[in-house]
Amino acid sequence: MSAKLTCSFGRTLTLKMTIVFSWVVWLLVGYQQHVDAISKHPIVCVLAFDGFRPDYILRGQTPTLERLSREGVHTQFLKNVFPTKTFVNFFSMATGMYAHKHGVLGNTAFNKDGQCIGYSYELFHYNSSITPIWTLNELSGEGRHSGVMMWAGEQYEYRNVTPTFSQEYNETMPWNDRIDMTMEWLTHKSTPINLLYMYFEQPDSDSHKYGVNSKNVTKQLKRVDVTIEYFLRQLSKHDLMEKTNLIILSDHGMVDIDYDKMIDLRKILDPGSYTMCGGSPVLQLQLTQGLEEEAYRNLTNARDQLKTFEVYKKNEIPKRWNYMGTNRVTDLLLVAKLPYAFNDENVKADHGYDNAEPDMHAYFTAIGPLFKEKFSIKHLQNIDIYALVAYIMQMDTAKLVMKPDASLAHIITILKSGAWENFQNHHTQNNLKYFVSKHRRRIHKREATVG
Ligand SMILES: [Zn+2]
Repeated sequence: MSAKLTCSFGRTLTLKMTIVFSWVVWLLVGYQQHVDAISKHPIVCVLAFDGFRPDYILRGQTPTLERLSREGVHTQFLKNVFPTKTFVNFFSMATGMYAHKHGVLGNTAFNKDGQCIGYSYELFHYNSSITPIWTLNELSGEGRHSGVMMWAGEQYEYRNVTPTFSQEYNETMPWNDRIDMTMEWLTHKSTPINLLYMYFEQPDSDSHKYGVNSKNVTKQLKRVDVTIEYFLRQLSKHDLMEKTNLIILSDHGMVDIDYDKMIDLRKILDPGSYTMCGGSPVLQLQLTQGLEEEAYRNLTNARDQLKTFEVYKKNEIPKRWNYMGTNRVTDLLLVAKLPYAFNDENVKADHGYDNAEPDMHAYFTAIGPLFKEKFSIKHLQNIDIYALVAYIMQMDTAKLVMKPDASLAHIITILKSGAWENFQNHHTQNNLKYFVSKHRRRIHKREATVG
């Protein structure tokens, strides 16, 4: 077009038109990019700090966390799943199921052939119907995308689906780099995520190594707080703060071990009489054929004499642990009593004990547009986070093929009043059947009474 204009006026006009046109194009493209750069769905970010005891917040090292907890939802503790081990609880939070359904009975477990398996595709795929929350988000369509940073079991597909973005566990990756990567996911120009599950390996690692009250743990608590502050700054920088519902939690507590009463299994059992899986304080034992009675007698004698551990046959495992139910459960389960331990691990502090023990409980706080402000509740169940996130993200729970254990009945009280009314239009009866069928009336009643 400009080639036809020969006078200087014409050239100036063309130049001006070109500049205006370019500006309009830039505005349109720029605006489009801006719109595309943040998900249209509510955003949920879950940040997990391994082994963060609920009372770590009282040590004066975590001012940012204290502020969030004051301004948002505060709980005394998050009730976790037995055994209070890492993979078990991360997978329970991801699937809304107890170990009796997802089959991750410890950081290691026996498979159906009697082999003790560690972190692997097989460990997390006891059942092909398992649908982690990041998978359900992807299956729910409408531009929903998940980002999973180092969460246990995240690098595998579930139901032939993988999250849009994921990063395998790599402890050498600096924490701020991990956050920078998640910001790229949250603002990705074509597939911005609306769900982020993110893992940090401390203060667990230093608590095991140096003890709960060590200076190293104090240092790690400061590091946790500075990291949360950095995450908030990055959310703000990307205009995500107002839209993000942030949950900060842990998988379990931690307790110093009493070395004076270490349980030495080698002094109790003939090494040929069993094979073992799991780790202190919870051991899964498969007894050698023909030696079962003798092994059981030796164990129960030692239990009665030492009083530092319990022995359970399959049918004696407490129901409240929701542990029985898969063919991975073996002949005997040995559980040390807190603060004693089996001598298979060389650590100063540990976890894995009965989930009724306060020292094993985990941490939880939540803040964001959908959560109540300055709200305190004694405790929540960690499996229920699955129902909560599915609910506020309006996920299509009709896509589930196996009923989770998670329920909305209790955890919904942390949502702002009216959340039920705001969201029910987006759900069909079918869509919520897994989480509210038994409690639907109760939820309505509760929602009507909460302020
Ligand atoms: Zn852990």
